[in-house]
Amino acid sequence: MPAPDILLQVMEAMPVMVGLFDTHRRHVYANPAYRAFMGSEMADLSGRTIAEVLGDDHFRLTQAMADRALRGEVVQTEGWMPHPNGGQHYVIRLHAPQRRPDGSVAGYFALLYDITERRKTQDDLFRLAYYDPVSGLANRLLLLKHMGDYQAVGEPFTLVIVDIDRFVEIRTSLGQAFANELLIDLANRLGRDGGPVDLLARVSDHAFALLVAGECDPPAVERKIERVAAVVRAARSSSGAAVFLSASIGVATWSEAHERAEDVLRDAEIATGRVREQGGARHAWFDPAMHARVVEQVRLEHDLRRAMERGDELWVAYQPIIDMVTGGLAGFEALMRWSHPERGSIPPGVFIPIAESTGLIVRLGEWVLREACRQVADWQEKRVPGSAPLFMSVNLSTRQLREPDFADRVRTVVRETAVEPSWIKLELTESAVMEKAEQSIRLLETLRGLGIKLSIDDFGTGYSSLSYLHKLPIDSLKVDRSFVSAMHQSEENRAIVRIIVDLARLLGFDVIAEGIETTADANLLRALACDYGQGYHFAKPLPAREAEPLVEGNLPWRQEL
Ligand code: C2E
Ligand code: CA
Ligand code: CA
Repeated sequence: MPAPDILLQVMEAMPVMVGLFDTHRRHVYANPAYRAFMGSEMADLSGRTIAEVLGDDHFRLTQAMADRALRGEVVQTEGWMPHPNGGQHYVIRLHAPQRRPDGSVAGYFALLYDITERRKTQDDLFRLAYYDPVSGLANRLLLLKHMGDYQAVGEPFTLVIVDIDRFVEIRTSLGQAFANELLIDLANRLGRDGGPVDLLARVSDHAFALLVAGECDPPAVERKIERVAAVVRAARSSSGAAVFLSASIGVATWSEAHERAEDVLRDAEIATGRVREQGGARHAWFDPAMHARVVEQVRLEHDLRRAMERGDELWVAYQPIIDMVTGGLAGFEALMRWSHPERGSIPPGVFIPIAESTGLIVRLGEWVLREACRQVADWQEKRVPGSAPLFMSVNLSTRQLREPDFADRVRTVVRETAVEPSWIKLELTESAVMEKAEQSIRLLETLRGLGIKLSIDDFGTGYSSLSYLHKLPIDSLKVDRSFVSAMHQSEENRAIVRIIVDLARLLGFDVIAEGIETTADANLLRALACDYGQGYHFAKPLPAREAEPLVEGNLPWRQEL
């Protein structure tokens, strides 16, 4: 078979569209794939120009490529091409000269490969990679890409993060579908009423970001934040249900100090986190001290993990709790201590919140419980003959209560340490209990079923609901230190303590006062018929070795009574 025949067969069989044109861009030849795309017979195409078949727009679009091919160049491009029946197809194009035997150009070929399907898949992938499927907004990755682009060309920018407060609670209580409706409504409103921005993105589960390019104009940014806060307050679900939304808003501006664009996002999120910690519904501009604080927390978290592995830095202190009537030793409160090898003693007020936010408190709390159980079992044997059994108070954090197997863990510790459950008193705060009241009450009932005693710590400082208080299966209320220390200032403050004591009486709970620092405090509390007391006036929290003499009956405060 002569070569041209073979070539013709190839041309007829291949799915690539091939068209041959003369110097006036008139069709000379078209293979079946080309003809099928155009929906025309060869006879309809022959002698007609591109403009006549596909319209002037397309003629102009490919003009440059055709001209270059006619000048002898081979040009490869890709782009959208109209289909004669409407719609656009994405094609890879090759324009190449067609030469006579003497080398002169007689016209050009156009090879068109339709990759619309592949292109659509690519677009889908792009959308998946760079857009949030729920809100349809740009995602974190695309935001970072834009910020990187600005930084690359030296364009300053400001980033505002809008983090919806209490969103996780809303989703837990009202459901995922409702939460999504809210997000979609917020996305739409921010786009419509939030004022112009260069990019609006969803950067996390419940946070949006507004990217504003150009030199930062703080008053203008403040005005924008006002608008955004108003938009958040106005959000609705699509079914029209309103919830009271607020946002924690953090702002950071790109500066020379930022090596990487993503550091601006980090700063804005640090500022947002700070607002959230302080209760939300506000905004804050990032400042470097915030960063230092986060770095410090990350370091402490790292050191705390290390301390938990090594086991010689963490220990438990025991503060005696005194029977206010007899002045005898009633029990102890176990308090966690951390002796950092380089930084000395780190207060629980510093490391406990870190342990809580990282979840480390679950393991730490269980460790304290185990230590305390072992200790009280040991002391029970050493106490003065004939005295009442000592109890051991152990603090619980909300995180521990939310562990689904918490009651089982407690049961295991009690069994393993051979402690009498009634010697153990667990202290919980009002907020920990009220947060999920019904669920908490069930857990408390289970614990109490084991024979363990329960106490509400820091009573009066949290939001407690009196309607729940009488339903709580508890044994004691612990009057917060702030009321005790304020007792001497006014009759009003004394009245608060009196009311708490009376309330406890009424509900059948006993009362422990903490933070007793002076003889006067102790006398006043005794007059108010408070059952137990704890404070520096009696003793500070002590290492087990130093607390042991108290167990054996050496009570230094006894002389003062
Ligand atoms: P808290 O449960 O209210 O513990 C009482 C705090 O008051 C202790 O502080 C104690 O040292 C302090 N204190 C006792 N008597 C006096 C006094 O007369 N005057 C004054 N000004 N303070 C007194 P500490 O040991 O620094 O613990 C602080 C908080 O850390 C505790 O408050 C508790 O919420 C938390 N915490 C301590 N250990 C643990 C633990 O093992 N687990 C959990 N979840 N939290 C713990
Ligand atoms: Ca406590
Ligand atoms: Ca307390």
